[in-house]
This record gives sequence, C-alpha cells and structure tokens, in this order.
Amino acid sequence: MELSKTFNCPKCGTAYRQVNNTAIHYECSCGNVNRIDGYLQSESNQKLKKLPLYSRFKQDTKGYFNQDAFTLTGALVVVFKNAALNFWTMKMQDGSVRLLEESYGFQTVLTPVTGINTKGLYDRLNKASTTKDTIIDHLGTYRLVQQDDFWGFDVKGESAADILGAEERFLFQSRDGATYIEIWLAGKDCRIFKQEPVETIEELELSAINAAIQFNEKDYADCASCGKEVYIPYFPLVKNFVCPHCTTLNKFSERWRWEKDQKVPRLQNNTAARIPLGTNLHLLGDDFKVIGATIKEDNDEAQWQEFTLYCETDGGFAFLSVFNGNFMLVYETMEFPLLPSVGQSSLYFEDTFYLFYNDYTTKLLWAEGYVFDDFASNNRRGFTYDYIAPPYLFSLERDGDKNNYWFRGEYVDRKELENQETPLVLPKKIGLGTLEPSSKFSNRQVIIGGALAIILFVLVHLGIDLTGTPAKVVLSNTYTFSDTSKNIEITSEPFELDNFRTNVGIDISSDVMNNWVSLDYALVNTQTGQEYNAGKDLEYYSGSDGGENWSEGSNTYDHLFTAVPKGRYVLNIEAEKGTDAGMVTSLYVKAQAGSKRALNFWLPFILILSWPVILLIRNYSKEQERWA
Ligand SMILES: [Zn+2]
Ligand SMILES: [Zn+2]
Repeated sequence: MELSKTFNCPKCGTAYRQVNNTAIHYECSCGNVNRIDGYLQSESNQKLKKLPLYSRFKQDTKGYFNQDAFTLTGALVVVFKNAALNFWTMKMQDGSVRLLEESYGFQTVLTPVTGINTKGLYDRLNKASTTKDTIIDHLGTYRLVQQDDFWGFDVKGESAADILGAEERFLFQSRDGATYIEIWLAGKDCRIFKQEPVETIEELELSAINAAIQFNEKDYADCASCGKEVYIPYFPLVKNFVCPHCTTLNKFSERWRWEKDQKVPRLQNNTAARIPLGTNLHLLGDDFKVIGATIKEDNDEAQWQEFTLYCETDGGFAFLSVFNGNFMLVYETMEFPLLPSVGQSSLYFEDTFYLFYNDYTTKLLWAEGYVFDDFASNNRRGFTYDYIAPPYLFSLERDGDKNNYWFRGEYVDRKELENQETPLVLPKKIGLGTLEPSSKFSNRQVIIGGALAIILFVLVHLGIDLTGTPAKVVLSNTYTFSDTSKNIEITSEPFELDNFRTNVGIDISSDVMNNWVSLDYALVNTQTGQEYNAGKDLEYYSGSDGGENWSEGSNTYDHLFTAVPKGRYVLNIEAEKGTDAGMVTSLYVKAQAGSKRALNFWLPFILILSWPVILLIRNYSKEQERWA
C-alpha cells in the first residue's frame, strides 16, 4: 500500500496530507481546488466552478453500507443539464472507493465496476435509447433511463471521484428492472458504476449528519432582464426562477449564466388556489415550504396548478398539483417500473397494478418563484403518461428517447389543506379527484374486511353451537288413535326451561295417507298459566294417474316457539282425525328445548355480507365518474 503523501498548496503553500492515496482532488483551506492525481497542480479545468454544497452529509463522517465501514472524505458537486448531484467519496475499510450520490432527497451508492470490456461501448452509448436494448459487456442487457450533460463541478474536502474530462452521465436500468448502472463518459473512456439505492439515511448508521440542509443566505443572482438582485437559495438544485421585480423567467444555461426566457403573462385565472410563496404546508406527514408556483395546460386545454414545495428535512422537492379543487402531492422517484410499451394498459410495481389513465403534453402558462419549467420548452416538451392505483399515481415524463423521469403521486385530502396553520383560499371541488379513493375503503380492503367479518361471524356462531346449551328433548312419543274416537288429547310430562329465554321446537309426523289430521297445540306455563298456541292441519294424498305417481301435502310439520321465558311447562296437543277414505292411525311428537331457527344464522349473515357488497357497488359507480 502506498503511503499517503503530503502536498503544499500551489496557491498558498499550506501543507495537506492526503487521506486516500487514490484521491484526485482536494480543496485547500484557502479555497483553491488542487489536483493530486499523480502530481500536484491547481485544478484548471474550465468546468471547475464555485458551487455551494447542499448536503445532509458531513466530511469525515463514518458509516456502514451493507456492513462495510466507510469514511466520507469529501464531495464532488456536479451541475448537470437536468440535475445537480453530490458525489461523496466513501473511503472503504479495504482502501477501495465508492461514491455516495446524493440530491433531491435521494441517496444511492455507486460501486465502480472493473473488468468491463469497453470496446465499442462508446458507440453503443451514443446510440443508447430508452426503448432499445444496450448490451454492457458481461453485466447484461440494459435500457437507458436518463442521459445528462456535465456542465460544471466543484470539490469540497478530498475527492476520489474521477471527474476529469467527463462529459455525459448515463443511467441504465436492467431489462428485468432490478439493477441500475451509472456510466460517466469522458472522451472515449467510460467509468462504470453499479448504482444501489439507500432506502433511508438511517440505514448508513452515520456518526454525524446535518439535521437539515442550510441554504446560503448570500446567494444572489442578477436578473437577466432588469438586472436587479434576486435571492436564489436553491441554485443549483433549481435552475429557473421568476424575477419578482420584472416577472421575467430566468433560466440557467450551459454558458454558466442566467439567461432570460420570457416575461410571465399576467395571471387571469382567479378561481385557482391561492397559496402564497413562503407558506409552510404540512402534507402527508412532511413539512414543506412553498417556493414556486406554475399554471400548466395539457393538449386538451385542461389547466391545473403546480406548487413547487421544498422539504427542508430531507432536502427533497415535491409538487402540489391542484385540479378542479382536487389535490395530489407528486415527487420524483428513483425506483420505478420498466418503461411501458406504447399503449400498455397497466404497470405492475411492488405488488400493485397501476392502470393507464391519461397521456398528454404540457405547456407552461404562468409561473412565479423557483420552478422546474420554462417557456422555451413548451414547443419541444415530451409526453407524460399517468398510471393510477388510487390513492397513488405513477407519472412518467418522457423527453424523447433519451430521458425518462418517473414521479410518484399521492392523493391529498382537501381537509388536510383546509386544516393548515395558514388559512388558504381553495377553489371549489368539482368531481372525483384523479387519485381520490372511491370510498374510505379500497375494493381490496372491503373484500378482506367483509371476508373477515363473515369468518368471525361463522366462528362465533359455531362457538355458540358448541359451547351453548344443546337442544334438550323434552318430549318424544308416539300416540295412536283408538278405533272408537277420532280425537287424541295429549299432555306431556312437565319440563323445565332454565334459561332466560329458550326456543322450543315441535316436530310432528304422522302416517296420514289420503286423509288429514287437524292439530292444535299449546305450550303452557304451569306456574303462570301463560299459553303459547299454534295449529296446523296435516294432509297427505297420493295416487297414480295415467301411469304417473303423484302426491300432495305433507305428513310432517315443525313449529318453533321462540324466546319462551324461563319456567315449568307442559305441551298440550289436541289432534282430530279426518273423515276421508284414507287412513291415519298414529302421531309422533317430539319437542326440544333450545332449538335454533335457521333464520338466526342467515339473517345476520346476509346483513353482514350486504355491507361489503354495497361498498363495492358504490366504489364501482364512483370509478365510473373518475374515468368519465
Ligand atoms: Zn491553499
Ligand atoms: Zn428582473
């Protein structure tokens, strides 16, 4: 292992002892960026610029990535055409170097991939497209996600990121969607990294961290139109602002200066949400500050508002979209599904199907504050594709075949906006929001909830059957008509009903054939005299007619006395034999205390089942409104 060297700054002479022997740059305490890649010199690359470092991370912080210990030695700050990113040098315990890429609230780890045959890769990169396969040697088949141009860089602390000569940055996603590769192209040299997401900063177990990103108080730019000073704290993360003095949209250009885009037209639409710049909003559990606002229009002339929100705690940006008084929070995401093919009706990502909702082009109509849009792009803006699984959205912005930007959206209930600390003027709500859930419960929740309720009900019912008092036979006897009398009078042995309320079931059957028997019976409380009466004629006829057998009536009957109070009872039955030619000789009577009525199960069962069915129907009809 080479020993660390000590260098003396060519500008001020201050000695510096390098931390990492593969370091390429360090920033001297005098502010000079020195190159120590082999030999010492003041960095003279024309892309070296003065850039602020806006980061959650600190120099000399220690942490872990996948159990590998690292130290952050310094950062390379890079401004690209479409983004601004920090690449922290992670000096690993084994002396190797990885990069912690950070910006807009995201972090990924870049691990250099070596042993790649880069022959011909330069040509393939030039032809790379978001819709065609690019083979990257043994790493496999990838598709381009984004291609961006290097505009400028700066170094803080000691950096081992080999930026020299880099002109373009490519982000590729594997054909199975599972892995990402980042490539820096410098002339015909390629630096290839495996890119892995860091889900949360906590995962890195850092020894120190900035609780929030502090913007420089003294970042000002001169408006390219009126020349007045404008505070630009979010530069280079945001590269467009509307001058508050002359309402000209300024955009930062590759020529490394602010250029005027267009004067923002006077606002005519007054039905919009009025949320002033600087308003603090608490949405979906995060704190945001409104730093910009736009009004946009799609190719169907539908107009909506988009507020630029900055989340100080994680350094991320988000957008509050307002359409017809419905709200959603939209933010860029670094984890996304594979690019859908033209006309693809759904996306599948993380166990959820997102249905194709709309595709459109957007046009900027109006803006104020710090924004990510400009008027110059209106004529060459790509397509946006929205896929929804309320309350969530995946939105894909395609800029030709070179850039896919993926956004996630989430429905924000109007009440959240009505309950902000600062009262807001909100437009009237019209219709169902794009991401507004049809009901408080999704179809899936309704089905699961309904099924659970039914299972619980059945279990409780079974439980009662198993543990409750079983039906007790209080009378079981056969009574025969004598030859002399056509009447039978029966009084059962007395029986006790011990429960507060008991059902008493009576089952009667007879050998009646081509005749009838008339029954009257009464359950009599022997203590109070209280009677419960019922009656029924049993009739049964059968024969044959033209070779076909027929029968009508029934020779059995059952009756349930429900909720009979506690007490001592007898059952009195009076039976009268019919006078038809057929026969009836005997009756069999069985009485049971504690009998159940089938309705006791089915009525509540149907009531419970009707709840999810009604919700599903309501969800369905609401869905028709969304897609209308
Ligand atoms: Zn110096
Ligand atoms: Zn101005």
